[in-house]
Amino acid sequence: MKFFRQKKNNHKATADKTDSEPAQSADISPSHGAAPVPDQPVDAAGSKAVSENSGSDPMDNPNGNHRKGFFSRLRSGLKKTRDILTTDIDDLFPGKRQIDDDMLEDLEELLITSDIGVQITMELVEGIRKRARSISGPEALKSVMKEEILAMMSDYPAPTPPAPLPKPYVVMVLGVNGVGKTTTIGKLAARAASDGKKVVIAASDTFRAAATEQLTIWAERAGTDIVSHREGADPAAVAYDGMEAALSRNADMVFIDTAGRLHTKVNLMEELKKIKRTIAKRLPDAPHEVLLVLDATTGQNALSQAAMFNKEIDVSSLALTKLDGTAKGGIVVSICSQLKIPLKYIGVGEQIDDLQEFNPEAFADALFNRKL
Ligand code: GDP
Ligand code: MG
Repeated sequence: MKFFRQKKNNHKATADKTDSEPAQSADISPSHGAAPVPDQPVDAAGSKAVSENSGSDPMDNPNGNHRKGFFSRLRSGLKKTRDILTTDIDDLFPGKRQIDDDMLEDLEELLITSDIGVQITMELVEGIRKRARSISGPEALKSVMKEEILAMMSDYPAPTPPAPLPKPYVVMVLGVNGVGKTTTIGKLAARAASDGKKVVIAASDTFRAAATEQLTIWAERAGTDIVSHREGADPAAVAYDGMEAALSRNADMVFIDTAGRLHTKVNLMEELKKIKRTIAKRLPDAPHEVLLVLDATTGQNALSQAAMFNKEIDVSSLALTKLDGTAKGGIVVSICSQLKIPLKYIGVGEQIDDLQEFNPEAFADALFNRKL
């Protein structure tokens, strides 16, 4: 077992991009090798995301640094969805006509293209049909839609964590390969460490050596402890040792990283259940949180991934990554209202400060470019 204290250091290495391809499905085939570590932050949104809004958002950049802040990146990522929900809706009203059946049909088509999903689209259109008489133009329609969407996104808020938190508070992180599990752990661990918490990370994705290396870089940047074994070791044993280390060192938090796909002979879900049982053996009630990471760029596919994981292992919260690089912002609405699992975090990039708690109001503002 390797268990060592990482020295806090401020170098700006970006964590290993081992899985740069988006996970398109619940693929559990073997991974491709590691990609090089980039010198600069990589924006998966590419130039598209940067071009829409090169100015800064007033909610961003408190330190005045030149990099686009969280909200600018979110707004850029949501551009295509926002265009559908704003500009394209303006186009539905040539002149000043009232809402009629034809218009509702056009609206339905528009919403489907925004990746809000068929079920949510139907619900939204139904809600608008009922209120049609009082909707007198595009601005009123946008207000109503924003209201309805905000209500849908607020259905399952993240529960307030118990105070005081159990010590250590154990978070097991799941998700298909490439969705951003390791990156999300890196960001959460960094945040907890900068809040003065003692953090242990367990590198239970032992499927590839590169996965542990990537996590080690994150632990180094965050200044946290990491427990790892050699490649191919039993992931549950790493989790156990991680728990052991956290308990003996009186840690505040433990993050357990896991593999997203394993050798075809090993069943991923069985492996994850075993890790979970092993954690509980060392600390009853743990893991306190089972965080499923989903990749927004996979659109509606993320919903089926969530259903698949949740069926086997009770998922308690969700993180949705890559909202900086997606034309599929509508997926957030589906996720919030259909999965019945709180969306706790959203990610808009690969850097430490690119993860925030999901806030439905701020998200609805970014989606419609307006306050209610
Ligand atoms: P894992 O296989 O689930 O552990 O996924 P990783 O954490 O290795 O992430 C896969 C790739 O997605 C890496 O290149 C990450 O840098 C990238 N990534 C993770 N989160 C985000 C995000 O919010 N935005 C963008 N643009 N890239 C991300
Ligand atoms: Mg990983």
